Amino acid sequence: MCLELPSFLLSAGLLVVVGLVVGFLPWGVLVIGVWLASGPVILLRRVEYAVMKGRENLRSPTNAERRRLAPLWQAVTSAAGADPRNYTLWVQKTRRINAFAAAGHTVAVTEAAVRALPDDLLEAVLAHELGHHLGGHAWASLLRYWYSLPAKYVFGFATSLSLALTSALREWSTPLVVAMCAVVVGALGYLVAVIPVVGMLAALFVVAPFGLLWASRAQEYEADAIAARLGYGAALSRFLISTTRKDKQDRSGWRYRIAQTHPSDPDRARRLHSQVLATANQGHEPRPG
Ligand SMILES: [Zn+2]
Repeated sequence: MCLELPSFLLSAGLLVVVGLVVGFLPWGVLVIGVWLASGPVILLRRVEYAVMKGRENLRSPTNAERRRLAPLWQAVTSAAGADPRNYTLWVQKTRRINAFAAAGHTVAVTEAAVRALPDDLLEAVLAHELGHHLGGHAWASLLRYWYSLPAKYVFGFATSLSLALTSALREWSTPLVVAMCAVVVGALGYLVAVIPVVGMLAALFVVAPFGLLWASRAQEYEADAIAARLGYGAALSRFLISTTRKDKQDRSGWRYRIAQTHPSDPDRARRLHSQVLATANQGHEPRPG
């Protein structure tokens, strides 16, 4: 994805520098070649399985959990015409109700989700995660993550800077945010004027995270839309309404929204609701539950 281009190019640039340091031929070319080839390798199912198995907070479902999940996963994949065996189900050890899709075959639900959600809502959550796989988001995000790692480590300050910016956007008052934007724009303008290449790279690092957050929110909507097309729109929207946070912090402002990886649950529920209505108006009865 073009939004990851800055960190990919920086990573590639770093590897070229490492290559030049160790002598371009043959070791430098070898280092760059191994790095480029490593991306597809982590998408191999066995490698992915080993990586997921190594994650401390993931485990295989217990027999009881498997008995619960298998028929729901079977129903979701058959609604999509997909083979359930193409995916590995994992359980994440946390008390939060959540789920995620990763790499080419991983679908994980949290212990709390398996324990607390009724069948129809758990099935809808699984449909959303399948939506991430069918939309190609899961493996694409793993590759993006992998190839931008060198830059992220070396240019950790850029990541910290954008994290600080996004949290400031969420938490700070308007005058402080305006002052912060003025300082950032001023500093970037100065850098561009003095050392154009460094200035433009720094500007890309400041802007790119917001583009990525936007893309991440778009992927959430797309995974929801796929789940809705599979007949899970109403159940998924009920799930989102049931998990809507009941705290007092205002999460509706644009400053909060643009700094989030996920759209707010009410926004997702609203969009799903209109999709369900549109489908019903076209004469296709949405699948119950
Ligand atoms: Zn999602």
